[in-house]
Amino acid sequence: GQCITHCPVGALKERDDTSKLWEAIVSKDKVVVVQVAPAVRTAWGEEVGLDLQDATVNKIFDALKKIGVDYVFDTAYSADLTIMEEANEFLDRFKSGELEDRPMFTSCCPGWLRFIKGQYPHLVPQLSTAKSPMQMFGSVMKTYFSEQIGKKPEDIYSVAVMPCLAKKGEREMELFYVEYAGHDTDCVITTRELVRMLRAAHINPKTLKDIEPDKLFEQSSGAGVIFGATGGVMEAALRTAYYTIVGENCAPDAFEVVRAESQDTGVSEASFNLNGIDLKIAAVSGLGNARRLIEDIERGDKKYDFVEVMACPGGCVGGGGQPIHDGDELAFERGKNLYFIDKNAQLRYSHENEDVKALYENYFEKPNSHKAHMLLHTDHNSWEMPRSPKRDRRGYVINGY
Ligand code: SF4
Repeated sequence: GQCITHCPVGALKERDDTSKLWEAIVSKDKVVVVQVAPAVRTAWGEEVGLDLQDATVNKIFDALKKIGVDYVFDTAYSADLTIMEEANEFLDRFKSGELEDRPMFTSCCPGWLRFIKGQYPHLVPQLSTAKSPMQMFGSVMKTYFSEQIGKKPEDIYSVAVMPCLAKKGEREMELFYVEYAGHDTDCVITTRELVRMLRAAHINPKTLKDIEPDKLFEQSSGAGVIFGATGGVMEAALRTAYYTIVGENCAPDAFEVVRAESQDTGVSEASFNLNGIDLKIAAVSGLGNARRLIEDIERGDKKYDFVEVMACPGGCVGGGGQPIHDGDELAFERGKNLYFIDKNAQLRYSHENEDVKALYENYFEKPNSHKAHMLLHTDHNSWEMPRSPKRDRRGYVINGY
């Protein structure tokens, strides 16, 4: 851990995993594979003095290669993969009548998973079984990717750069597959830790170039990028669900009504009729808002088919691992940047991602296949989130926990 100099009694410590990553980088036996989450690109520039338009994820890839990482990828790729699994799971569960009384909830936010398991355990079966994009990517790296580069799963050191502190707990989930045993993700570093590593390596951000992610998982859609903002998972899933139901693409912004415009709107809800199928959905961010929404559902005052929940107000862009500016809440400004990237993306639909299609053709066969269930889904009852240490609002662990 790194002592925080401005704490007068030295009682505040921030968990720091950068030394683990440095060790893996210098180790000769490990292939270090790093994914970078969508929300990180909206915030790292604030710390290194780059304007929003210059602080691209492609420069983060360049920086990671410069510090010695072997392969770099965009978590937006595996967000597309998550959408393929989750949208199809939703349609199957909806059609089977399983969601008549209660909605399916998204499962990609570990802060929300901890909350629902602790506070509303009877609702755990309503969670999507899809792993988060981070865990899905880790699992693909240790199976398909390691095979493709002629390595064993245990040769891969899978790293995720995340805006989130709870992801450090999520990565501790132990897994035992036919293919490998261990963790999908070996190390999570936050946006703040990434910036510390770049400083330690004396990387001048102004000299970084835009480079593409490595082969096999190069493509990602705008739908995968908006995962980092509240409502983004829902909007991405609806674009693909529409295609599956109607057989053609909706306009890319057809579901923009689920976006949150400001901090005051912690909940957005909408109803749609897709080819005669009525769908009622909601997206909520902030656990206080989530609690109110669940109470409404439990009392029967509200009825939805599909609900997205993100623990942090504004979604992952406002995560606890992002840079902190006292008194400023930048989540919604950062979220707008993700929608801007989506609007200007060549690819707007997860189901059109050619590298995701190739992964199904070469490995998983189809969404929700047996193999996909083994590697891309989880049984929420089979593991517990490690007890979270008590932290102050900056994410520093308070001594004694
Ligand atoms: Fe982590 Fe917050 Fe995103 Fe949840 S909403 S995954 S707690 S950053």
